[in-house]
Order: sequence, then C-alpha cells, then structure tokens
Amino acid sequence: MNSTIHEAVDGLYDLIYPPKCIICGELNPHYLCASCIGKIDPVPRPFCLRCGHPTHGLTCRTCWGRSRSFTAARASGDYGGVLKQAIHDFKYGGMRALADPLAHQMYLYLTTRCDIPWRRADFIAPVPIHHTRERVRGYNQSRLLAENLSRMTGIPLDDSAVIRHRRTRPQVELTRRERLINLRSAFSVPEPERVKGKTVLLIDDVATTCSTLRECSRTLISAGAHNVYAVCLAFGA
Ligand SMILES: [Zn+2]
Ligand SMILES: [Zn+2]
Repeated sequence: MNSTIHEAVDGLYDLIYPPKCIICGELNPHYLCASCIGKIDPVPRPFCLRCGHPTHGLTCRTCWGRSRSFTAARASGDYGGVLKQAIHDFKYGGMRALADPLAHQMYLYLTTRCDIPWRRADFIAPVPIHHTRERVRGYNQSRLLAENLSRMTGIPLDDSAVIRHRRTRPQVELTRRERLINLRSAFSVPEPERVKGKTVLLIDDVATTCSTLRECSRTLISAGAHNVYAVCLAFGA
C-alpha cells in the first residue's frame, strides 16, 4: 500500500474509532492526554547519583567501584500507573503512536527536572534491538523515542553508532546473573572513530535492572566514547 492510501485508511479509521487517551478514555489525538501525563510521579529521592535508582547514600552498591559504563543514568518518571500502562501498550500492544507523547514526557523530564548535563551530548543513540525482533514488532521503540527527542532537542541522531549483533533472550525471562551472561558482547561499535571522544545520550524505553544500559554504555566507552548519559522512560519493576 502506498503512503497516501495508508493515510486515507488511517483517517477513516480515526473517524470510526476516534483516538482516545489509553488511561482515562477522553478523546485525544495522541492517545495519552496532558492531564494523565501530569500524573506521572518522579523517581523517589534520594537516588543513586550514578544509576538513578532509589538508594540511601550517594551511590548504590551495584554502582560502587564500577567505572567503565555510563556516567549517569536517569528515568523520566516512576514506573507505575500511567507510565507502566503506556510503556506496556507501546512495547507489547503495537501502539507505535505512543512514541510521540512518551518522547514528550522524556523531553519534559530532561528540560525541567533532569540533574545531569545531557545537553553536552554530541549525538543521541537508541539502545538497539536485534533486527529479527524489530521485524516481529515492526519497530524499535527506543529508536522511535530517540528520533522524536532528536527533533525536540536539536541534538543529532546516530542510530547505527552502536549495534546489537547477537540475538539475546528477552531479559524479562532471566535471573540477574543470567542477564549479565546473556548480554556479554551483545553490542558492538562498528566504526569506533564515530564515537571517539564523544558524549552520547543513550535512550531506552524501560530499563528493568539497568544491565542493558550498562552493557551498551560499556561498549561505547570501550570504543572510545568520552561520556554516556543514559535516559529511559522508567526503570521498570
Ligand atoms: Zn488521559
Ligand atoms: Zn547505582
């Protein structure tokens, strides 16, 4: 089908089934209304200055002594209620259209509450997924968020600086130890000169244990990146 027909079909579909906010059911063209976005809570303080997870003290035990990974990681909001439902529909429910309001939620967070110097980033990179998984889902949700954020912030996008070259089992199915083994050497940087000395803003949708963000960041740092700031929608449960 060409894009004109696609748009016509979408337009007709919207007429018959007008888009509604997935949370409150009010008519809304973006599937998530401003008042529901306003109900997203920030990550409770105090949190680890490195990984952004709630902890007592300055850094959590997982981050203690680790150096070759992200400089800092943060989540745009607390996982629960609105964010949990929206991420679920975006990731597993095929609701690609949620990329827009969810990227907006990240942008709001970055520009109003974020305590890390993300504006120094030379480029934005999404956490890559393996192409077979992308084919099944039809899209890489992190790339959609990164594309939108690039447009909103004016920071260029590089979605092939870091790639995933090995298919890994879904992290959700694994224990913490298995996750680390599963991820080892899952990512690579095909052209290290593209990342050398650069500050990267790494974008992910949901980071359950942060191990994917850590491994992806470690790969970028090992390839010569100067700093990696990782930002996701939420840390997950
Ligand atoms: Zn709503
Ligand atoms: Zn930490």
